[in-house]
This record gives sequence, C-alpha cells and structure tokens, in this order.
Amino acid sequence: MALIVQKYGGSSVADLDRLEQVASRIARHVTAGHQIVVVVSAMGNTTNELLALARQTTPSPDRRELDMLISVGERISMALLAMKLKELGVRARSLTGSQSGIITDEAHADARVVEVRPARVQSLIDQGFVVIVAGFQGVSRTREVTTLGRGGSDTTAVVLAAALEAEYCEICSDVDGVWSADPRVVASAARIDNLSLEEGLALARGGAKVLFEDALRYARDHNVTLKASATHGPGTGTRLSDSGSTEARAVAITGDDQLIAVDTTAADTSAVQAAIRDAGLRLRRRIGGVVHLDTRNAHGTVAWPEGVVDHGPIAVLSAVGSALGESFEDHRLASAALDQSGIAIHDQGSAGDALWWQVDADRLDDAVRIVHLALVEN
Ligand code: ASP
Ligand code: MG
Repeated sequence: MALIVQKYGGSSVADLDRLEQVASRIARHVTAGHQIVVVVSAMGNTTNELLALARQTTPSPDRRELDMLISVGERISMALLAMKLKELGVRARSLTGSQSGIITDEAHADARVVEVRPARVQSLIDQGFVVIVAGFQGVSRTREVTTLGRGGSDTTAVVLAAALEAEYCEICSDVDGVWSADPRVVASAARIDNLSLEEGLALARGGAKVLFEDALRYARDHNVTLKASATHGPGTGTRLSDSGSTEARAVAITGDDQLIAVDTTAADTSAVQAAIRDAGLRLRRRIGGVVHLDTRNAHGTVAWPEGVVDHGPIAVLSAVGSALGESFEDHRLASAALDQSGIAIHDQGSAGDALWWQVDADRLDDAVRIVHLALVEN
C-alpha cells in the first residue's frame, strides 16, 4: 500500500462531468489499495475570472483581498470533489490550505511555503479518508490567507508529498507528461519518459507550462519524485526524479512570449528589485543592466524607479537539457540553423541546463521548430 499525492489541474475539473471522471479515477486507486491525498486546482478558467472581477473593481487590487478572492476557486473544486467521492462510496474529506497546515511567508499573491504541518491530513489518512486539499493556498504566521502564485497548486501537491513522505507526487493534466516541445507548435514533438528535476526546472524557467517552477524547485530540494500524467487516457507520462542524465543533451525546446525587457543601468538596484517583487514579476536573466522579466504572475501596473527604461514585450526561446548550457557545439549548431532560416537573433546566451535566444515574437514558433529540428531531432 503506497501513499500517493495526486494533483488535478483546472482543465481536469473544468465541469461536473470531468470532476466525476476524476472522482472515478481516485476511486480506482483507492480500490487498488492506495492511500490518496488529492490536491485540486480551480475549475477551468475560474482563477482568471476572479482576477478579472478584481481588476474591474480597481486597477491595482489590494493583495490581501485579492488572496481572499482567488483562494475561493480551489475551495469550490475541493468541496464538489469530496461530495462526488462520497456519492461513489469513498470516504473523503476536503480541507483548505490553512487546514492542511501549509504555512507561508506574508507575500500575498506570490507566497512561498515556509513550513508544512500535516498532522490533520495525516490523521485523516490514518482513519482511511481520501483527503482533498485546496491547491494554490496557505496561511501566513499572522493567520492571513495567502496564495502561491499562478500555477501554485503544483506547489501544494509537492510540499504535501514531501511532508507526508509520499511514494511520489502525480501531477495530472490534459497532457500526457512533458514533451520535447509544445505539440501544437512542433508536430514531431515527442513525450519524454524520464527527466531530471533540474531539467524540468530549466524548462519551467524557459516558459514551458508543464509544471510550476516553485513546485519543481521544492521537489528538487526535498527529493520528491514527480510523475506528470494525463488524467484521462492510457498514456505513460513522464517521470521526473533526481537521477537525471549526466551527459550534455538537448531534451526540449520552449518559447516564452510573456516576457518584458527593461534596462536598469541608470537606476538604483535595490529600488529595481523592490519594484520587481511588488509587481509580482520574476527575474529570468540579467544581461549587464538589461533584465528579462516574466509577467505571468504580475499584478497591476509596475512602479519603476527613476532611470529604468522599459523596452516592452520580448520573446525568448530556450533549449533545455542536462549541462546543455556548457555545450559550445549545440549553441553554434542551433544559432546557425536560426540564421539560415532568416530568424534575427537580438541577444543570446547560455548557462547551466539551458541555451537561449531572443527573437522577434512573430517568429518565435518558427524558431522553436528550427531549434527542435537542429538539436532534439538530430
Ligand atoms: N488556480 C490557480 C491558477 O490558475 C492555481 C493552479 O491552477 O495551479 O493559477
Ligand atoms: Mg498548472
């Protein structure tokens, strides 16, 4: 009998039919003799709708109140799923992030988990319950409700898997595992069987929507094995664990068009850092004074300090794989392929597990296809 943490993403619980299929999937695992802790995302587009509601109310919503609002989405899913499981004859109990003992810092809308006290979850498991935890949320030491950043239900699943010493943490979505590129962009993309957590992290940082960056970092730091699976269908998914490849290899290509570039050369660095944090931006890379910032979790408008020059939206593609950033040859090959296809390279670099190129946003998909052909398919 294994203890497994399963997370179901928003599209897997988008409506009551799908919720019922998820309940049946959980019931099958229970029948097979496993102990299951479930983490759920908000149904479908709920989080976006709640955020839109806040922005219609005020252009810069108060972060505390924002968390009170957007934490509701996951609570809807957890309660409905628990009801459905009970109907199927499975003993189930839903808990909020706070009730599950997920303690975070005070950074509303982008909080980090600082401690997990899973006593209540553990005691329910011991009594034979399937525990359904609302993802994406926790509670600060001052007892405020916090949320973990967009995509944060993955984090909830991973921190619980670590705290409960689960056998593994399964992240279920409508995609069967992690692919070598977005199959909607690259027709020849293939599913990856095994990936190191480091490689997964580099992919997430490169803008791949597979798994949330913070969750991968936590899994790496706490030695949690992840499985990315399809909620429906027979796929075999991708296993992400500590034991990655040791040779340099290119496993996946990802494009990111949700970035902005700003030149901070003439500004006070601590003021820049504070503005980035307050706006919910994430620093992707610094090239001298120019920084690339991920805007996925941005809240409201950014109050840049004096001297910052905003260059606006940019697009960057990344090639990811163990130690790939150390390979001159792969970098040269891919750059030459981009060049031959007439893709203008505005900037480029490499480090650790990634190579990257800044290209025009309208050529990003082409660039992904070209580098996939040059590095992954060869
Ligand atoms: N519902 C949240 C979001 O849309 C968290 C998650 O789904 O992981 O970002
Ligand atoms: Mg997600």
